[in-house]
Order: sequence, then structure tokens, then C-alpha cells
Amino acid sequence: MPDQRFDVVVVGGGIVGLSVAMHFTQSFPHLRLLLVEKEDSVARHQSGHNSGVIHSGIYYKPGSLKAKLCVEGAAAMQAFCRDYGIAYDICGKVIVATREDEIPRIQSLLERGQANGISGLRLLKKEELKEREPHCGGVGWLLVPGTGITYYPAVCEKYAGLITTGGGSVNTGTEVTGVKRANGETVIETNRGAYSTRFVVNCAGLHSDRVSRMANKKPEVSIIPFRGEYYDLTKQTEHLVRGLIYPTPDLRFPFLGVHLTRRIHGGVDAGPNAVLALKREGYRWTDFNLRDTLETFSYSGFWRMGAHYWRSAAGEVYRSLNKTAFTESLKKLLPEIREADLVSDGAGVRAQAVRRDGYLVDDFQFVCSENILHVWNVPSPAATASLPIGREIVKMAKEGFRL
Ligand SMILES: Cc1cc2nc3c(=O)[nH]c(=O)nc-3n(C[C@H](O)[C@H](O)[C@H](O)COP(=O)(O)OP(=O)(O)OC[C@H]3O[C@@H](n4cnc5c(N)ncnc54)[C@H](O)[C@@H]3O)c2cc1C
Repeated sequence: MPDQRFDVVVVGGGIVGLSVAMHFTQSFPHLRLLLVEKEDSVARHQSGHNSGVIHSGIYYKPGSLKAKLCVEGAAAMQAFCRDYGIAYDICGKVIVATREDEIPRIQSLLERGQANGISGLRLLKKEELKEREPHCGGVGWLLVPGTGITYYPAVCEKYAGLITTGGGSVNTGTEVTGVKRANGETVIETNRGAYSTRFVVNCAGLHSDRVSRMANKKPEVSIIPFRGEYYDLTKQTEHLVRGLIYPTPDLRFPFLGVHLTRRIHGGVDAGPNAVLALKREGYRWTDFNLRDTLETFSYSGFWRMGAHYWRSAAGEVYRSLNKTAFTESLKKLLPEIREADLVSDGAGVRAQAVRRDGYLVDDFQFVCSENILHVWNVPSPAATASLPIGREIVKMAKEGFRL
């Protein structure tokens, strides 16, 4: 027998699940809502291991959910931080063309950003660059003045607080182990007992495909974990970076390419890269989980992905194993940096949804069935976009669940 009854159970206490739960309590205060998180506190995985950037939305295809929700989300995140006293800084970003042939690409990026409704974008002259980022190298520069930084774990704590003051419950240390249907209701089995509910929203991040399978929904994608490793600049070299310095991206993988990010509580990060992780929540090279590894290697989409993207993947692994190569990439952005100026820091693991044909799912992806809504792909910039993502998912649930 289930221990307690709810109207909505949200699985996953990352920034997306928390935003969804918060929007539910705001839009439907009469519903009994529970959020379950397997760790002892919220934001322990992607939402607590990211770069802390409030992205502006320049990279994403005009008309995509990513573009729309990132642009809206950046403004909403700034307002949220301001309203709740969470530290943030709109320090701006410079995107660097390191070779002449990249100059047309930053020009197209500027046009894409304008099509996405981002204001203030402009190409910088060398004298202007020297005023903003005097140590930055390259041959062409695009300024994105609205990009900022914050601390997403603090945002998550605030979302969690607003859920409980809005009448919902947040149960940490509660891992979902099964999802069953019984007597017209859904029973969520956990390590702390069972809950029955009318509706479920699966926001389990690196485990969202598994939670879908528990609910007998065969996901259209599999989650492949990619670890992103960071270096810290030493205290003596932090002054070389004032805001954010990024390379010209390959728009198929805007998250790739070594970049420099100032942190809101001090320090400058270099990275992250993206290498296959042999454990879904494995933050070190040596972390290994047999089930996770077998699942990755037995997925046909993984091998097809290898065939499509092997060249980029090889470069990432090479830079992960070879600090000299990493430093060489960084020198293109910051010529004064030396290998000794970089100290190994933490890492994050991205949940990348990969289709059976081996292509990465590009846009955000949410799928609603009769009584369960599955959030399958919410990679970067989902922390930035978390407020409108929560709002959109609740809107979709309202229609799908006929609330
Ligand atoms: C290295 C890196 C850098 C990034 N940088 C940025 C950035 O600068 N700006 C930006 O906007 N975005 C960034 N992102 C992306 C952003 O962090 C993620 O898109 C976002 O955090 C995803 O949130 P989530 O809630 O879906 O996932 P998560 O934060 O991973 O949350 C999922 C939660 O579900 C829980 N869970 C899983 N299975 C179960 C279960 N069975 N039962 C109960 N709970 C379960 C997990 O413990 C976890 O807490 C970055 C991501 C990474 C990895």
C-alpha cells in the first residue's frame, strides 16, 4: 500500500525539476505536489557542477526552443537573482576569431544572435578589445554584452524554498526505484516507501531514460554521459581574464572548445572539455560503473555517434590526457598563459541525449504521455533557461494531463 497520496510527483531535484515543481505550486496551489531527489540535497549533479554562465542565447538556431527559452530565461534569471538577493554579474562575453577564416563565422553568429532578439551585439576593434580584455589574443572579436554569471546551486536552493512555502514537499534522500500502474493511479516506489500519484514529471537528468523505462515508456533516445573537466587559473594569473572569453564555436557543438569563465565567487575556470564518462555521475577519470558502461556500449546509437563525430571526440580526449595540448588551445585565446598557470579543478557530467541514428538531440525535448511527462533533453543552456522551461513544462502538463 502506498504510504502517501499526491496529485503530482516530480522526479529529480536539479534545476529543471525544481523549476517545474515551483511553477506547479504557483499555477496549481490546490494540487498536492511532491518532489523526490535521490541525493541528500538538491543540485548535486549537473545543476551543481556547471560553469555558472547566464547564457545570452546567441548560438542556437532561430525558432528553436533553446533560442527562445534561453533569451527569455537569461532575462528571467537576472530578475530572479536580483529579487532574491542571489549574486550575479553581467560581465559580458567576448567570442574570439583566432584565425582569419573564423571572422565570417563570428559575423554569422552576430546575425544569428540578432535574429534571436539579442541586443547590444557588435564586433570589436582591437583598441576596444584592449579596454575590455587587454590580455585576449585573436584576430577578430564579437562582444556579447548581456552574458553573465551566477551560482546555480543558490538558485536551486531558492527554488526549493519557494516550493515548500508554496505548499509542496521536497523529499531528498529518496530514490525512485520503480514506477507502476495500479487502480488507475501511478505508484512511485522509492527506497523510503511508495507514493501514489495521478501524474508524474520525470526530470531525472542523467537517469531520465532509466526512469522512462521504469514507467514502461521506451525512450526515443539514450543518455550518454560526457564528463567536462576544468582547470583553475592560478591566483597570479586570474587578472588576465575580466569576464568570459570563448572561441568561435562549431555551431553543431557550441559546448565544445576550451574557454575561460570568471566565477561569481572568485577565480577563473578554463574548460570544460567533453569526454565520454564510464559512470553517469563519475567526476574523475578513474570512475567506472559496469551497468552504465555496458548500457553505453550496447546502445547502437553510441557506435553510430562515434562514426559521425569521431574527429571531435578524439580531439577532446587528446586535450583531456595532454595538458600541453589543452594549454596550446587556450593560448589562442590568452597568449600569456603557461601550462604552470593551470591547476586541475573539478568536473561536471553532461546528460547528452543521443538518437538511435547516432545524432545528438539538438533542441530541448519534453514528451507527454497520458499521465507521465518525460524531460529527455535539457542540456546547456537549461540552467539559464530553467524558469521558462519550468513554465513551458507545466503548460504542456496542463494540456496533456487535462488539469
Ligand atoms: C560541465 C557543465 C557545464 C554547464 N554549464 C552551464 C552554464 O554555464 N550555463 C547553463 O545555463 N547551463 C550549463 N550547463 C547545463 C546545465 O547545468 C544543465 O542543463 C541543467 O543543470 C540540467 O538540470 P537537470 O535538472 O535536468 O539535471 P540535474 O541537475 O542532473 O538533476 C537531475 C536530478 O535527478 C536526480 N535523480 C536521478 N535519478 C533519480 C531517481 N531515480 N530518483 C530520484 N532522483 C533522481 C539526480 O540525483 C539529480 O539531482 C552545464 C552542464 C554541465 C554538465
